[in-house]
Amino acid sequence: MDLLTASFSEISAAVREKKVSAVEVTKFFLNRVNRLDQHLNSFISRDETAVKQAESIDQRILRGDSVGALAGIPFGIKDMICTKGLRTTAASKILENFVPPYDATLVERLRGAGAIVLGKLNQDEFAMGSSNETSAFGLCKNPWNVEYVTGGSSGGAGAAKASRLTAGTIGTDTGGSIRQPASFCGVVGVKPTYGRVSRYGIIAYASSLDQAGPMTSYVSDAALTLEVICGRDPMDSTTSNQAVQAYSQNLTSNLTGLKIGLLKEFLTEGLDSEVNKAVDDAVAAAKRMGAEIVEVSVPLTSLSVPIYYLIAMSEASSNLARYDGIKYGYRAPTEGSRELSLEEMYSKTRGVGFGSEVQRRIIIGTYCLSSGYYDAYYNKACQVRRLLKNQSDEAFKKCDVILGPVSTTPAFKIGDRISDTMAMYLNDIFTTSTNLAGLPGMTVPFAISSKRLPIGIQLTAGHFQEQTMLNVGFALEQNSLSKGERPNVY
Ligand code: GLN
Repeated sequence: MDLLTASFSEISAAVREKKVSAVEVTKFFLNRVNRLDQHLNSFISRDETAVKQAESIDQRILRGDSVGALAGIPFGIKDMICTKGLRTTAASKILENFVPPYDATLVERLRGAGAIVLGKLNQDEFAMGSSNETSAFGLCKNPWNVEYVTGGSSGGAGAAKASRLTAGTIGTDTGGSIRQPASFCGVVGVKPTYGRVSRYGIIAYASSLDQAGPMTSYVSDAALTLEVICGRDPMDSTTSNQAVQAYSQNLTSNLTGLKIGLLKEFLTEGLDSEVNKAVDDAVAAAKRMGAEIVEVSVPLTSLSVPIYYLIAMSEASSNLARYDGIKYGYRAPTEGSRELSLEEMYSKTRGVGFGSEVQRRIIIGTYCLSSGYYDAYYNKACQVRRLLKNQSDEAFKKCDVILGPVSTTPAFKIGDRISDTMAMYLNDIFTTSTNLAGLPGMTVPFAISSKRLPIGIQLTAGHFQEQTMLNVGFALEQNSLSKGERPNVY
């Protein structure tokens, strides 16, 4: 079996049938991390227990115990997600030595299904960014061309998956952080419906928007991973009771009877011509597979970036108040023999521990929440968000899935946008409305630009319509123009 191209179900079946051991699979990927990550910087921490975890899966199989659907599949986990006994930094100096005493629910579920944790992946600091350039552990490079960004904030997850340093990765998506790096790195990435995956143990950025999801080589791998990580969790009261479907069993590329919507507001003139062409080609492919194409409109999409940044920064300023040098991670040292006052300690800890983008967002978010401004900013943004959700509910009465671009351009060069904050925020123009409306969204790799950079297609669906969305993804995957293309770092 070629472990570079095998699907999750092929690997786990081979592990269960003892054709290959979980230890062999794990060592195969660990060797790749050792050999290739020096070119990318996609890992922040390696899990030294990976081989031991694999041994215990192999022993369970030898004893005849049942092992789960992901038996022996190595995963890299974004460093926003708590892993028991394994450092979890959110790519921030303020958490550089934080070792969680528990696993996030989704990690517990992955382990329960037999998956192996290889390590923790690079990202923008506290998931704030669209290029992975704000990490306190150094930026992560795009494996297709190391002069380009991976996208963000789950850049390490995109890069590690694209280069096959691990079989699967898990990212988080608050405003596009799974879908945009998936597009820039040429992998599948799924952000589930809000409430589908437990947020327990995920470091909070903007709690009303955050969701975690898989980044994989194939749609079927993402579907299988979702079956494991989705579902009600008593530790997260926003998780839904709705039953989780057997997504991977029900995949079909026959789109007959499905209506695919083209969002008027997404077909803007500012779109790069190659991205535009990829969208046209994807529409043609969807038609060939039986879908009917309709035009839909969600006028408030035009306000999604300002609404998103108001809400995300406000919630972040509140969530990040806990990092004060007392309970977690980094604390500013005393100055010689002089003890700092409490207030000095707070302000030095936060001034040194947080990077500049995180500080900017805490300051703006605090302003938006302060008395006198709350109604004008945070509250107003929440009201417009509700109207946006209503409009998108209407749009999904006219179609099953919306197809469009993930980003206006393929990956951009390292350094190109980092000092232009507005340009960086405008990256999220096609991804934030999905989070604001709480909808599922995904990226399917579809084309390659003339500079040999990947271009993904974005799909979104109504609440809890993951299966329909995955089916369209599955159909596009079979028609993908980037099939068989490999990144340079491979
Ligand atoms: N780029 C967006 C931001 O900076 C989205 C990040 C995310 O989804 N975590 O907030």
